[in-house]
Amino acid sequence: MSINTPAKPLVLKDYKSDLHNDWCPGCGDFGILTGIQMALQQLQIEPDKLAVYSGIGCSGKTPHYINGYGFHTLHGRVLTVATGGRLANTDLTVLALGGDGDGYGIGAGYFVGAGRRNADFAYIVHNNNVYGLTKGQASPTLSKGKKTKSMPEQAIQDGINPIAMAVAAGYTFIARAYALEPKYTADIIARAIQHKGSALVDVLQTCPTYNDLYTKEWYEGADLAEKKSRLYKLEERGYDGKVQDPTDAQEIVAKKAAAVARSYEREPIPLGVYYEAALPTYEDEIYKRIPAMKDTPLAEMDTFKRDVQPLLEAMR
Ligand code: SF4
Ligand code: MG
Repeated sequence: MSINTPAKPLVLKDYKSDLHNDWCPGCGDFGILTGIQMALQQLQIEPDKLAVYSGIGCSGKTPHYINGYGFHTLHGRVLTVATGGRLANTDLTVLALGGDGDGYGIGAGYFVGAGRRNADFAYIVHNNNVYGLTKGQASPTLSKGKKTKSMPEQAIQDGINPIAMAVAAGYTFIARAYALEPKYTADIIARAIQHKGSALVDVLQTCPTYNDLYTKEWYEGADLAEKKSRLYKLEERGYDGKVQDPTDAQEIVAKKAAAVARSYEREPIPLGVYYEAALPTYEDEIYKRIPAMKDTPLAEMDTFKRDVQPLLEAMR
């Protein structure tokens, strides 16, 4: 992704739009928004070199609040549009944003396809275990037997594991953050943006309006006798998910297996980078076929003046 060094350093407010924010007071989405803006500032990405796409849900409103190009797309479809945007203009830093219901439910097929493709963008999922915008139904990440205040009965099917799904799909950067730690979230998102390839950042997000199970107090472990956080950071326990030699298939399998094993840990839940590998991106493969795209993004090519005669000849 293009990371620029503007003449005058950009500050946090350069990434804020002036639109009214209508998220519920205390929503974890505020922490994720701040984390994204802090990451953009950290990398000094100019707003006119930024494209932010979103799906549908409370998280879908995020591009409205960021100063940059924004596209609020359809439910579950954010990855298709973000991929198209990225391939059309490789000069832009691309962020895809969505919720857990949006991305891991209706968007699950696209989620797998995007991991397999490995185009260069960061996908940030606001994971709050519910469909917040439609009044708190159970989302695909809510575990079996759980019941939030907006559900009449306990969930009778098990939740999915997004980290393990991302490992299987082929994402080359897979991480988890926590919405109420914006500084840490910003560092993880900055790494996801700098990574070349498809990056997933699953952000555990509190929804004070509908999710009364996974609250700020729950994550803090306020109910536990020893008042101990239910979160921990992988790097603080000596975990390193980075593949040192991407040509070594055995190392890749070992690192993937370690990431999946950690993703099933509960109480405490690991935060940080589970897996990272520098592998060829979709763009790398496109450039092999269309070398001109490496220097000139598709959006800047005069496609109407292309000589299609050789193509027609080949099809005779
Ligand atoms: Fe946030 Fe939940 Fe309100 Fe949506 S419903 S804005 S996720 S607190
Ligand atoms: Mg949700």
